[in-house]
Amino acid sequence: MGDRWHVEVDRSVCIGSGMCVNHAPDGFRLDTARQSHPEHPETDANERVLAAAEGCPVEAIMITLLDSGEAVFPPDE
Ligand code: SF4
Repeated sequence: MGDRWHVEVDRSVCIGSGMCVNHAPDGFRLDTARQSHPEHPETDANERVLAAAEGCPVEAIMITLLDSGEAVFPPDE
């Protein structure tokens, strides 16, 4: 079985660019204040969600492994 991820958006950092929605339309949505929310805070490992996290201009999207809490993105230094 593949990894399970926990996906979080730091809305104090999100600037509402909407790029995450472009990368992963099924992974994120913007609320009326243009703040991003993960559609599925717990999800199977997913390249589109990872691309969204990598593409976020302010690194507001954090992905960790659901079971261990290990950082997927941004990676630990
Ligand atoms: S790409 Fe980043 S800054 Fe832009 S809406 Fe998504 S989480 Fe917010």
